[in-house]
Amino acid sequence: CGILGILGKAPVAPLLLDGLKRLEYRGYDSAGMASLVNGRIERRRAEGKLSNLARLLEKEPLPGTVGIGHTRWATHGRPTERNAHPHSSDRVSVVHNGIIENFRELKTELEAAGQVFETETDTEAVVHLIDHHLAQQMSPQEAVGAALQRLEGAFALAIVFAGRHDLMIGARRGSPLAVGFGDGEMYLGSDALGLAPLTDRICYLEEGDWAVLTEDGARIFDNQNAAVERPVTQTALSG
Ligand code: GLU
Repeated sequence: CGILGILGKAPVAPLLLDGLKRLEYRGYDSAGMASLVNGRIERRRAEGKLSNLARLLEKEPLPGTVGIGHTRWATHGRPTERNAHPHSSDRVSVVHNGIIENFRELKTELEAAGQVFETETDTEAVVHLIDHHLAQQMSPQEAVGAALQRLEGAFALAIVFAGRHDLMIGARRGSPLAVGFGDGEMYLGSDALGLAPLTDRICYLEEGDWAVLTEDGARIFDNQNAAVERPVTQTALSG
């Protein structure tokens, strides 16, 4: 339902929590976040209100400066902690808005290839599709490019990779996603309101676009994987 991604330099958990609070008005049934801690993907997730996630973070702080956060409105799989986003393997972590229509077909195929599923969500098929390509020695960018060719349905995605503090990938098809430009930091958001405290320089991805973020900028590709330029606008929203 709500997506936020921060490729930053400051502790990311409080910033993600603050941004997710700004997206609360959209409604949600659970929430979670993942960050890179010494290169490894770590998560905190909770059923219900963001205050539950905040309480969990007090008990079990989540360090790291690169992370993704999500408020979920369940479409496939009950609103439990296990089904809450981000969904992860050892190599990759994903937050998703929307619906992956062909997830059952992908799941059958990926299970046959040895991938082990843990949740009831459609989203987990995205994780295992990318993970499967990474295991075949594709780069993160190649793996996501190949995965996007297989996904059917409507989605916005934000993706981080184990060991890659310098990289975040976002994709937009049928669900909005914007790229935010900071000072040596980059952001992804499903909604400009979530990005407002972080930056006022925003680029709205167009239908079918995906974006490869590094600390100093973004390369944007269209649905044919051709590099494209999209305008960066100054928003009136702030703090
Ligand atoms: N279809 C996904 C799920 O049920 C994402 C739902 C959303 O947009 O929050 O987990």
